[in-house]
Amino acid sequence: MPDADARCSVAIVGAGVAGALLAFELARAGHRVLLLEAGPASGPRVDLVADYALAAVKTPRSPYRDNQPPSPVTSPDSEDDYAQAQPSSPFKFKSTYLRRVGGSTWHMLGNMPRLVPADFRLRCLYGVGVDWPLGYDDLEPWYGEAEHALGVAGDHRALDGLHGAHRSRPFPMSRIWPSYGDLAVERAAAGLQVHGIPVELTSTPQARNSRPYDGRPACAGNSSCVPICPIGAKYDGSVHVRKAVAAGAILWDRAVVTRIDLDRTTRRVRALRYTRWDEAGARREGFVAADLYVVAAHAIETPRLLLASPDPDAAPAGVANGSDQVGRNLMDHLQGQGATIVAEPLHPFRGPPTTVGIDSFRDGAFRARHAAFRLSIGNDGMGRSETPYAALGRLVDAGLIGTDLRTALRDRLSRQFRISYSTEMLPRPANRVTLADGPADAFGVPRAALAMTLDDYNRQAFAKALAVVSAVFDRLGAPDPERKMQEEDTYSGAGHIMGTTRMGRDPSSSVVDRDCRAHDHDNLFIVGAGVFPTGGTANPTLTVAALALRAARTVSTLLRTGP
Ligand SMILES: Cc1cc2nc3c(=O)[nH]c(=O)nc-3n(C[C@H](O)[C@H](O)[C@H](O)COP(=O)(O)OP(=O)(O)OC[C@H]3O[C@@H](n4cnc5c(N)ncnc54)[C@H](O)[C@@H]3O)c2cc1C
Ligand code: SF4
Repeated sequence: MPDADARCSVAIVGAGVAGALLAFELARAGHRVLLLEAGPASGPRVDLVADYALAAVKTPRSPYRDNQPPSPVTSPDSEDDYAQAQPSSPFKFKSTYLRRVGGSTWHMLGNMPRLVPADFRLRCLYGVGVDWPLGYDDLEPWYGEAEHALGVAGDHRALDGLHGAHRSRPFPMSRIWPSYGDLAVERAAAGLQVHGIPVELTSTPQARNSRPYDGRPACAGNSSCVPICPIGAKYDGSVHVRKAVAAGAILWDRAVVTRIDLDRTTRRVRALRYTRWDEAGARREGFVAADLYVVAAHAIETPRLLLASPDPDAAPAGVANGSDQVGRNLMDHLQGQGATIVAEPLHPFRGPPTTVGIDSFRDGAFRARHAAFRLSIGNDGMGRSETPYAALGRLVDAGLIGTDLRTALRDRLSRQFRISYSTEMLPRPANRVTLADGPADAFGVPRAALAMTLDDYNRQAFAKALAVVSAVFDRLGAPDPERKMQEEDTYSGAGHIMGTTRMGRDPSSSVVDRDCRAHDHDNLFIVGAGVFPTGGTANPTLTVAALALRAARTVSTLLRTGP
C-alpha cells in the first residue's frame, strides 16, 4: 500500500537531458520542482571508468553496472534485450537507452547537428511523412539556447545556412579540431560528385568541449566517448541535474513512476504513483501530486508508461492516447558503414571517433523517393569492421611474426578507414511500442514490445549511401578486396529513438501540440524525441534540448498564471 505523499508545482518523470533541462529552467524560475528518476545516481566518474576498464565485454552499457541484471532498472544493451511484438519479423529495433540520473546521454557520442528547414515540412515539400506543427524559424532561437546550455563546439561560418538552416548566434566555442585523416579525405574528395550532388566535408558540431567550458575540461581526444568520457569533456544530462538541484529542484533517484492517475471528470492528471527502491531490496510506494506534470522518459519508456495507465472513463486506451498514436511511428536513424584499407596512411585513433561528415545528402528532391542520409568520416580505423585486435589476429594467421609482424601491423592500422551513414525513417504506424504479454517488470509495469519493419524508402537510401562511400574509397585508392561494405538489408541502430508521442496540430492524429502539451490532458507535457513527427538526419539530442527549453517557457508561464 502507498505510504507516502508528496506535493510540488511540477513533477517531472525522467532525469535525462530533457527532464533535467526543464527541471533547471523551472527551478531557477522559482517553481517547486520534483524530478523522479527510475535509475540510480552515479558516484564519482572515475568509478564508472574503472568499471569499464574491468568489463570483459565492452558495450555501451559496460561502465554502468547498476543498469545491468540483477538491477531492477536494467537498461537494454542490444536488440536481444527487447520483447518483440512480431517475433518472426527479420527486422528488429536495435537502439538502446540508459536508465540512470543523466539518462542515455551518458553513453552518447555527442554529435549535435540541427535539423534543416525541410525536415519540418516533409509532407508539404516531398509528399511523404508528415509536417511538424512548427518550423525551423520557430525553433532557431531555441537551438542557439540549447547549444549554449549543452556546450556545443562548432564552426558557425561553415554551418550557417546549411540546407537553409540559418544561425542567429555563434557556437559557444570553436569547432573540435579536424584530424589528419579528415584533411586527407577532404583533399582526396575535392570536386567529387555522386548522384549529381557534390560530396563535401563539413565539420560536425559536437557537445564536447574544445576549450574548458561550464566547469568541464577540454576534450583530450582519446576516443572513448561511447560509452563514457573519462574526464567529462563531453556533455551528459547529469550536468543539468546538478544545476537543477543547485537551483532548488528536488531529485529522487531510484524512483520509478509506475502509473499516471487521472481525474475522471476533468481528465486532468491527478497524481503519479511511484515506487522508490534501494539496493538492499526495500521498496516504498507513494503518490506525487502537482499542478503540472512532465513525462520525459524517452521514446520507449514514455509510451510504455502512458499505455500502462489506462482509465476506463478518462483514457480507456491509455493516457494521452485519444488519437491511438501513442507508441506508433517509432523511428531511428538506420546505420550502415563501409570500411577499408586505403593507399596512404590516415593515422587514425587520435581525437574523437568522428569530427567531420558529409551533409550534402541531408536534403533534396530525392526525398520524395528515398530517405535522406548523412555520412560520418571515421577517425577510428575500420570501426567495428576490423578492430586493431582483429587486425593483429589476421596478420598472425597469415604467418607473420617478430619485426615483420610489427611493421605490417603498423602499416595496416595507419591505413584503416571507415565511413558510416545513417538514414532517416518515415513515420509508419506499424512501427510501434506496445505493451508486451507475459510477465511484468520488477515494479509490476508491463514490459514494452517493439515492432519494426524496413521499407524501400530506406533500402534505396542504403544503396545510394554505399555508392558515396565507394566513390570516396576510390579516391583514396582502396583496393576492392579490402573493402568491407554493409550487407544489403542490414543495418544497425544509431541510438536515436524517436516518434511514439508525436506533436501535431490535429488531436486526432497526434499526441501533443507544438508546445509539447498533451491534447487530451491540459496539465500534462511530454518532452523528448518521442514528440518528433519525423526524424530528419540530425542526431536528435540538440532538437530534444531546444524543444525542452521551449516547453519550459510555456510550463513556467502556466505555473504563474494557472492553466
Ligand atoms: C550509443 C548511443 C549514441 C548516441 N549518440 C548520440 C549523438 O551523438 N548525438 C545525439 O544527439 N544523440 C545521441 N544519442 C541519443 C541520445 O542519447 C538521446 O537522444 C538522449 O539521451 C535522449 O534524452 P532524453 O532526456 O529524452 O531521454 P533519456 O536520456 O533516455 O532520459 C530518460 C530518463 O527517464 C528515466 N525514466 C524512464 N522511465 C521512467 C519512469 N517510469 N519513472 C522514472 N524515470 C523514468 C530513464 O531512467 C532515463 O534516465 C545516442 C544514444 C546512444 C544509445
Ligand atoms: S575524445 Fe576522450 S576526452 Fe574527448 S569527449 Fe571523447 S572521451 Fe571525452
